Amino acid sequence: MPKLLQDYASRQAELRPNAVAVTLGRSSLTYGELETTSSQLAWRLREAGCRRGDRICLLIPKSPAAIVAMLGVIKADAAYIPVDLASPPARLAPMIRISEPWGALVSADTVMLLDDILKEIGEHSLKIGSIERCRLEGRLFASCFDMSEVDTYPSDPPEYENTADDIAHILFTSGSTGVPKGVPITHRNVIAFVEWARNYFRLEPGDRISGHTALHFDLSTFDVYGTLSAGAELHMVPPQLNLLPHGLAEFIRSNGLTQWFSVPSVLNFMAKHDVVMQNDFPTLKRMLWCGEVLPTPTLIHFMQRLPHVRFTNLYGPTEATIASSYYTVPECPRDALTPIPIGTACAGEELLVLDAHLNEVPPGEIGDLYIRGAGLSPGYWKDPEKTAAAFLPYPGASNPKDRIYKTGDLARRGEDGLIYFVGRADTQIKSRGYRIDLGEVEAAFHSLECLEECAVVALPTDGFEGNTICCAYVPRQGQSVSPPYLRRQASRLLPSYALPTRWLAMERLPKNANGKIDRPLLRNLFRHDTSAET
Ligand code: AMP
Repeated sequence: MPKLLQDYASRQAELRPNAVAVTLGRSSLTYGELETTSSQLAWRLREAGCRRGDRICLLIPKSPAAIVAMLGVIKADAAYIPVDLASPPARLAPMIRISEPWGALVSADTVMLLDDILKEIGEHSLKIGSIERCRLEGRLFASCFDMSEVDTYPSDPPEYENTADDIAHILFTSGSTGVPKGVPITHRNVIAFVEWARNYFRLEPGDRISGHTALHFDLSTFDVYGTLSAGAELHMVPPQLNLLPHGLAEFIRSNGLTQWFSVPSVLNFMAKHDVVMQNDFPTLKRMLWCGEVLPTPTLIHFMQRLPHVRFTNLYGPTEATIASSYYTVPECPRDALTPIPIGTACAGEELLVLDAHLNEVPPGEIGDLYIRGAGLSPGYWKDPEKTAAAFLPYPGASNPKDRIYKTGDLARRGEDGLIYFVGRADTQIKSRGYRIDLGEVEAAFHSLECLEECAVVALPTDGFEGNTICCAYVPRQGQSVSPPYLRRQASRLLPSYALPTRWLAMERLPKNANGKIDRPLLRNLFRHDTSAET
């Protein structure tokens, strides 16, 4: 078992230096190239002053170069923060501010975005490195270096001071109060999952693995390190294919993929557009999904067309690293109403269904779902309050490191011993696979001067998006506020996937007996009011 994540790549570089490690379109890197360039980057970062525990933001689009950057950063004993390049600078700036990064790595495409973020941040002492030969002078940057002479640095990795309990990366997830939460993930957290998954899925050098998810989502951690751990090939899916269901299917076919891993929305999208033929994808061995419920009709659709493929449901939040439980579907469900369990815990993990007093609830009863085990993050970045609320001591534990994470999910244990996901206990939703806290969306609208009041609710849909985000609002007196105007204002604060698509202007928001906004009533209004603007 490796001690650090970069050891996976170094080992494969010894075993198969000329084998392809990662590819996107016409750009690809062998294990040998990946190892050499990431080591050189690590030496360069160290020479620029990067030290153990420092953080480096990655503003690099999904590409083989992004994998070099990740490995280079961890080889420099630092931690990387993959930045969501589609989010507005006003949303990214607070995340970057609280991460207190030592530096940032950019590519030619993202220099302007970094410029915009730094304007939001103001004073800063970030060291900026470009992974490409691009001119950085004359901008806001306090101190710059570029990688143009990186090949003069040693091609062997430097000595590491890091241990498995050091942070490898920080991922940000939507937070209920408006500011996204940073989830630090250690080398040990990722290795625990990857080791289980490599054994369970029998990943091997001949595997051709999809890299569908964007690199700031934790599912991509499995794509990247699962591939490197096995000496397989990572085939990054070009993001523009996400709007082209035929293109996604053709990608699987023409690249001869053996494993597909994505959020269910993508599978729904392909099923809805009927792009998979009978016995399609002859090389495909596994189809995995995680992040939300895969509707049973979609599963039936795929299982009937692809009888040679194994289908596995993975479940888990970012805070517990990639996935904590799994269920490989033994046979095609008989009907559309058969629920698909989230199954049993992966090795080293435990799923607990508990009541308000942290006692196990009897089988069949719904309780709060907690996770215990090797994947648990050390806690939210620089937020002891949120950490204390979500990461609790294991009841009766004598070791303070023995913790359980409150997922916010509701679940039940079936008579079959398997865990079934029931829903959420809070305002977090998934829309098109994106984790969104409606609290963050609402906070963005509350910050708009033109509104007196507003409330954001979600409605489940049959479509691939999973949930529609709906905004009811009361304009400030004398102001005329249209949905397109609100959308424009909010798009400066929220990523596009979190913007409401249905709107309702009201004179006042409905309240319940306690004076709180009556959200069930609002949901009903949106459900029945077809005039709500889209
Ligand atoms: P994220 O941190 O983006 O991975 O989101 C974690 C949340 O996604 C979980 O707490 C669940 O609400 C949901 N989730 C993850 N996997 C599944 C699954 N297989 N089935 C249903 N919901 C899931």
